[in-house]
Amino acid sequence: MAKPRVRHSAIAIALSVLVALTVSLLPLDLAIWAAQAKFPGEKPSGSIVLVTDKSNAASKSIVTTNRLLLRAITNLERAGADRIVIDTPLRASNDAGIDRRLRDTIAAARERTYIAAPFNSEISSISLRQPNAELFADAAAMVSSDMDIDFLDYVWSLAPSYAVNGENRPAAWTVLVGGQSTGRDIANEAIHPDYRMQPRDLPEVQIADLAAGKASALAQVGGKSVLIANLGGDDRVIRTPGGAGREGTSAHVSAIAAETALRSAGFYYAALYTIPVFGIGLLFLAAVPLGRRWRRIGYAVWASQIVVAFVAVPMMGDRVSLADPVFLASVYGCFRAIANYRRRHLYVDTQSRLPNFTAFRRYLEAQGSLNDHILVIVKIARLDAIFATLGSHEQGEYLRQVASRLTLGESSANVYHDGGKYLGMVFRRADYIDLRGHLEGLRAIASQAVLVGDTPIDVAITIGVDQSNEGDVSNRISSAIAAADQAREAYRPVFIISDFQADSEEWDHSLQSRLENALSENRISVKLQPKVDMQSGLFVGAEALARWTDQQRGEIPPVRFIIQCERAGRLDDLTKRVMEKSMQASIELAREKLPCKVSVNVSAIQFVDSRVVDLVELALGATQADPRNIMIEITETARVENLTRAREVMEEIKRLGIEFSIDDFGVGSGNLDALYALPFDEMKIDRMFSNEVTRCPKARSVVAAMLDLCRAFGMRSVVEGIDELDTFEAVRDMGGDLAQGFCIARPQTLTLLKETLRLQAHQSIVRQS
Ligand code: C2E
Ligand code: MG
Ligand code: MG
Repeated sequence: MAKPRVRHSAIAIALSVLVALTVSLLPLDLAIWAAQAKFPGEKPSGSIVLVTDKSNAASKSIVTTNRLLLRAITNLERAGADRIVIDTPLRASNDAGIDRRLRDTIAAARERTYIAAPFNSEISSISLRQPNAELFADAAAMVSSDMDIDFLDYVWSLAPSYAVNGENRPAAWTVLVGGQSTGRDIANEAIHPDYRMQPRDLPEVQIADLAAGKASALAQVGGKSVLIANLGGDDRVIRTPGGAGREGTSAHVSAIAAETALRSAGFYYAALYTIPVFGIGLLFLAAVPLGRRWRRIGYAVWASQIVVAFVAVPMMGDRVSLADPVFLASVYGCFRAIANYRRRHLYVDTQSRLPNFTAFRRYLEAQGSLNDHILVIVKIARLDAIFATLGSHEQGEYLRQVASRLTLGESSANVYHDGGKYLGMVFRRADYIDLRGHLEGLRAIASQAVLVGDTPIDVAITIGVDQSNEGDVSNRISSAIAAADQAREAYRPVFIISDFQADSEEWDHSLQSRLENALSENRISVKLQPKVDMQSGLFVGAEALARWTDQQRGEIPPVRFIIQCERAGRLDDLTKRVMEKSMQASIELAREKLPCKVSVNVSAIQFVDSRVVDLVELALGATQADPRNIMIEITETARVENLTRAREVMEEIKRLGIEFSIDDFGVGSGNLDALYALPFDEMKIDRMFSNEVTRCPKARSVVAAMLDLCRAFGMRSVVEGIDELDTFEAVRDMGGDLAQGFCIARPQTLTLLKETLRLQAHQSIVRQS
């Protein structure tokens, strides 16, 4: 599909051509030409002289007129007029003698005398002019006094010849040009009179003076082309623009036409020229990739050319049809305005003022093949809860800020908004070798709290990507949304669906059924990872981590099967199993007087209703475990949709005596709001920071700040993921309470854990004794 701009310019050009074929834009051109006639112009050359009659010509008898003509023509001959065009009707009078003498005089001068035939009455229904009398018919060569008169009585062009009684006769103006060179092919080209020349500036001689042989009159006509204008009152009214209106006559127009020819002017640039010239310019502007600014400059230059043509062409004495380019510009302008309006209103989300998913779809559909593109959906977690605290203006501001974070480094990229919690983006496949790395980086940047007004507000996002080559645009968007939904705040924030994964998706379906079997057959086990008190170095408890070994696939990481459980609606089942096993472990440890505090991971999304309360109560009832030895770690706190509800649920459980820990604090979302709103007893600082404490001062500051926060909130701190001794010491010196990590102890079976703890108990007994 062609770019909309190119399409719009092509349609505008086609419409202009169609309109140019009709004459509907003529009134606009006439108005333009009338205005141009007011431009300053040169005076006529003077080589064409008009013979007129100022006295009341209409009242004169034909005899008088013929006598005047006879003398005038005789004197013109004597004075050496170059050419004489008789543009007044030659009529028969009641004095045959005078008439014959007139005829003979004309015939004697026939080499340079022409008789004008009257207007073609077919063209002009209001022709008043009388025909020439038969007597004068072949006295001299016949020319036509015709011209193209429009519906307002203006003459904008004169043909080189007109048909008179079926025979082509040269137009009077071509004869007036005479033998002078013009640089124009006057015998074949029409002329467009340059009306900057005024009729009143044409030299005029009175026929009475000429007939009387006045020296001043004779002096004016020597060597000139002379046009004897209509001496009767029966001429057509012709208007000449630019002047005072009706002051011209057809003779004036012929003379101005001849004067225009003498200047090699009077060309006409019709729509045939202007549409291609301006059309190609417009197409070029539309097709060339230009920034907004340069395109605007381009449009301005293009439009200014219309103004340039408006001024320059008439100043050269020529005429141009500008109504067509003006029409072209207007049509194109309308198309663009509609497109912009639609883009602004139909394709824009009213709240965020970001382009919406309709625009997203349109954009993707316009790309043709999607194989070069990667579709990215960003899901904003807990948006409803955030919006509950913001006014509608601030909600838009929040969304825009998140969107602008996502375009960091690539400000030209568009972020689309579905009106809810999803944002869409498109990446070029070729630009990203390490897509996951890039998206994780992007997510880290986008997850910084944004300032709305003066208030910092958390941003928690997950990213779903469809990079398979399957399906149409809608399929691909849906699949990227599904990926974003499946992405998990804490342990799989970027979920990429690729062709490869489309296979494993299949596998996941069979995995799901096997997982369900494993759950019902109670084959999910737990491993326990000890937690150590940093100051005393003693084990104080353990975290229960779910483990599942599939017969076919071997050990499946919890990250993977927990998602499957969630999709299959079996998360409660899993939690129940892990909870019971953890409680049993705690009871066994307590029985041997070993540290027996066991933490169980529960996903934040389970805190939407009291099912989790029932689950805990039932497990406590079934195992008879001491609730004070059980802790719940809430994972993925960013996924809490309703903090108030979650708080109520937690408080119910707390009343049973169970404590709460906020897991993976500091990653994904700021989860400060969850920390603030929910009654936690312990904070687990994510390994992302603890790992770097010895290497990176920034990580150190983050951990220090979190530890401060813990103290301020009266919470216990657990630093997770410590896998080096240096890290352990560094965090201990910073005042961390508990630690957990591979360098202390790996997740292990209950049997092994008991060994470890017994050994420690034994050592401390030895130390004490
Ligand atoms: P988590 O709760 O933050 O658990 C800690 C994870 O970090 C565990 O991975 C653990 O094996 C690992 N870990 C501990 N020390 C170190 C260390 O020094 N270095 C490194 N690199 N890793 C260390 P695991 O067992 O794969 O669990 C991953 C996540 O799965 C857990 O993160 C938790 O969010 C989730 N999970 C595990 N079991 C359950 C469960 O029963 N229910 C729920 N809802 N989620 C669970
Ligand atoms: Mg945990
Ligand atoms: Mg953790």
